[in-house]
Amino acid sequence: MPETQQIRTGIIGLGAMGIGMAQSLAAKGFAVAAFDLSDAALTRAAEAGAAPMPSAADVFGAADIIVLSLPAAHHVKAVIADAVSAGHLAPDAAPRIVVDTSTSEAEISRNLAAALDAAGHGFVDAPVSGGPAGAAAGTLAMMLGGDDADVARAMPVLEALGQKIIHVGPSGAGNVAKLVNNMLVASHMVTTLEAVKLAEASGVSTEDALRVVNSATGRSAISEIHYPNWVLPRSFDSGFSTGLMRKDVRLARDMAAKAGCAMPLADLVADLWSQERSGLSDSDDFMLMGDPKADRFEGDKE
Ligand code: NAD
Repeated sequence: MPETQQIRTGIIGLGAMGIGMAQSLAAKGFAVAAFDLSDAALTRAAEAGAAPMPSAADVFGAADIIVLSLPAAHHVKAVIADAVSAGHLAPDAAPRIVVDTSTSEAEISRNLAAALDAAGHGFVDAPVSGGPAGAAAGTLAMMLGGDDADVARAMPVLEALGQKIIHVGPSGAGNVAKLVNNMLVASHMVTTLEAVKLAEASGVSTEDALRVVNSATGRSAISEIHYPNWVLPRSFDSGFSTGLMRKDVRLARDMAAKAGCAMPLADLVADLWSQERSGLSDSDDFMLMGDPKADRFEGDKE
């Protein structure tokens, strides 16, 4: 296994998550080539110790292990197509591993992994959980899909980003696990909101209700981490957007439809997360869904 300093890393997508990952890699001694469409993000990456690049393809040219943190699967396909056009993923190019931390789609990951494998390169789907704070601290949970050999080669980089690293299975398995996880997150936001609203309406404060839930069987990461950090202080700045939450619910439902798996609750949750039902726009922080003071859904007593 090469020393940290000998592995050239790259990161494409320097948003809420990617900027923290760039910081974590640079802090742990990796050379980091970075690209984002936003100049402001590139400036922040330079301040974090990464080397800004003029294009995504240039990151592939400068790195052996390239981390992607992009909004959706079509962005992932586009940057890989650019790298292919530039010759960096040709069969005679130095072997590269793409570590895709975006919340993406299993079928697209499998296709990309097969295409890269045929040219002697690797692709690991490696979606993450833990938010911008976890990305900056290098303490993310990571769920991996890919070949053992590719995962082993990427491990020094994965270990710089994550604390709980679970190799779920072959290509696409990480994406499946992530969507299943986030379907629960979307549901827990709604069920926890309903629980604290019911408590308040019946004479028990949100704080007291959560003290009990978090010592009892109704708890989740939403009640244990998200409410205390972002709802109770009313900062609503977790760094995860409602638009990305909607994407995850949509992808989980698409996956269920393909698998022939009925999910009546997820269908209702998707409806409740829609702009029409929730009043939230895509750019709103997703924690606003949990605001017990918002009377977000119709039917509450005046
Ligand atoms: P974000 O919107 O904050 O950042 C995405 C970045 O990608 C932006 O800076 C954008 O300019 C850049 N970008 C878009 N297209 C690009 C391209 N073609 N080339 C280069 N850069 C491009 O999103 P985020 O919150 O950082 O999330 C990134 C991914 O991680 C998403 O797939 C999301 O679902 C997932 N995720 C987010 C969180 C979170 O808490 N924010 C947690 C886990 C997983």
